[in-house]
Amino acid sequence: MKDVLIVGQGICGTFLSWYLEQAGRTFVVIDEERPHTASRAAAGLINPVTGRRIVKTWMIDELLDFAQKAYGEMAPDCMRRVDLIDFFPTAQMRLAFLDRLKDDPQYIQLAADDHAWDSSFHYELGFGTIAPCYLVDLPKLLPTARRRMLDQRTLREEYFDQQALTIRPDSIQYKDITARMVIFCDGIASFSNPYFSRLPFAPNKGEALILDIPQLDQQTAVFKKGITLAPWKDGLYWVGSSYEWSFSDTNPTNTFRERTEAALKNWIKLPLQVIDHFASVRPATLERRPFVGFHPLHPAVGILNGMGTKGCSLAPYFAHQLVEHMVRGKAIQPNVDVKRFAKILSR
Ligand SMILES: Cc1cc2nc3c(=O)[nH]c(=O)nc-3n(C[C@H](O)[C@H](O)[C@H](O)COP(=O)(O)OP(=O)(O)OC[C@H]3O[C@@H](n4cnc5c(N)ncnc54)[C@H](O)[C@@H]3O)c2cc1C
Repeated sequence: MKDVLIVGQGICGTFLSWYLEQAGRTFVVIDEERPHTASRAAAGLINPVTGRRIVKTWMIDELLDFAQKAYGEMAPDCMRRVDLIDFFPTAQMRLAFLDRLKDDPQYIQLAADDHAWDSSFHYELGFGTIAPCYLVDLPKLLPTARRRMLDQRTLREEYFDQQALTIRPDSIQYKDITARMVIFCDGIASFSNPYFSRLPFAPNKGEALILDIPQLDQQTAVFKKGITLAPWKDGLYWVGSSYEWSFSDTNPTNTFRERTEAALKNWIKLPLQVIDHFASVRPATLERRPFVGFHPLHPAVGILNGMGTKGCSLAPYFAHQLVEHMVRGKAIQPNVDVKRFAKILSR
């Protein structure tokens, strides 16, 4: 009998399996290779301040410290420190940045040389720098972890069929796999999961373009002017993204492509070519907090999901918290524990 069956090898399933392995627990991961899952579509940016008012993101001091340790141990060559060059798109945004700098300069500073990026970008209102930020190389991390699991025979590349799952109070059966529990790390598929579909998920569609900009050679900076431009694999760049709460399908749209190409034309001075365009759906939640823990009526069924726009910083931290709960009985933080939805999940 295995300790855990994990469904999904995105950033959540990858870190959960890593911490289970560290704790000496046995597991099997089932994941069907799909091209544009949230983790495959993401830029991989960890940014400590966001939004129009440049506010610190939830738990960021703790999450940044933890992320450095977690990626350093699991995938040391898949995370690097970067500066976010924040070109002010409007006079209001410049003012908001200056106000924030006066009140609390943590993570932000004003450019020492306003002309530093003149040769590559058009910008009229100067820029600020957000640092430290971190960039996770997901196109390298996910396949590397996958190959390792395939070598160790802990990953099955196949579709997980809910109909074939039997739940007992203290174990589960899935085809030939018997385990003490199943933990769903299946991203947006959990929206229709019979055990967790009642959780207040709020799917959010995002699109990105992949660009070749041969004359831009930047591995230590990410750029922002309304949209974000980040180094991607093979010397290419990722640019995006949209945030759609209401959408009829998950396909890439001409609207996004045209709008982004127009914005790039007004921003980047260097020749560029669009290589790819994709769309994906973020497993976001109504209260913008993850879903972690075990079903109130089915103790053998767990979930690690709802990472929204911040999977790269939240997934390692809460995968570790979930394993500490399983192995040492430590409490799951109440504002992420799915037990907070015990009433809806018990209906
Ligand atoms: C355009 C875009 C940009 C983003 N940029 C960033 C960013 O810069 N920084 C950041 O921190 N976050 C970013 N995010 C958010 C981040 O991608 C998510 O929070 C995170 O990837 C969610 O990971 P996950 O493991 O929960 O889900 P997923 O990555 O979706 O993984 C779920 C896995 O389960 C598998 N699966 C599902 N159902 C089945 C089944 N029935 N059988 C077998 N396998 C199954 C899927 O194939 C998949 O591999 C972005 C998201 C998008 C869409």
